[in-house]
Amino acid sequence: MLHLFIMLIFLRAAPQPVSVPVLCYHNITAGHAHASSSLYISENELLGQMRTLSDSGYHSICPDELHARGHTIGCHTWDHPRASGDQGLPGAERQLYQSRETLEKITGSAVTSFAYPFGKWNEAIVKQLQENGFKIAFQLSGRSTSKFPQFTVRRLMVNGNWNGPRLLQEMRNLQLK
Ligand SMILES: [Zn+2]
Repeated sequence: MLHLFIMLIFLRAAPQPVSVPVLCYHNITAGHAHASSSLYISENELLGQMRTLSDSGYHSICPDELHARGHTIGCHTWDHPRASGDQGLPGAERQLYQSRETLEKITGSAVTSFAYPFGKWNEAIVKQLQENGFKIAFQLSGRSTSKFPQFTVRRLMVNGNWNGPRLLQEMRNLQLK
């Protein structure tokens, strides 16, 4: 099974600018280890979707183009390991250094931001990040801590079904917790 975090932006050649969503794929699986869901898609289904988009006039933007357009490119490890307890990420050399170096080669710029796999963080992982030159890291649950504010920044998975007021409410709910 391949674990990847891929964010794709598709453009469509059109006389007028059109708005298209950013497509986020989290886990692309070889075989059928998982049923497709909002977090998983099989290789075959992904290729089918890409073929349909391509046939309909869409094309993708690669990370280097995304970076050139002002987006931040950050690490999410090499293959999404799960840290246990208070332990650091297993295989930090590959997970942090190698994945960062690969993105830096693609973008030609320093990569200093990181999103914890499964949102899970602990002090050992923060230390690994600091030793590998990361400056900011994003978690998925809980509050930012005063000890490591830059390494416990909260992110919010935004549901595509939310309207504006619902998004605002979800953000305010987080501030109250
Ligand atoms: Zn992830």
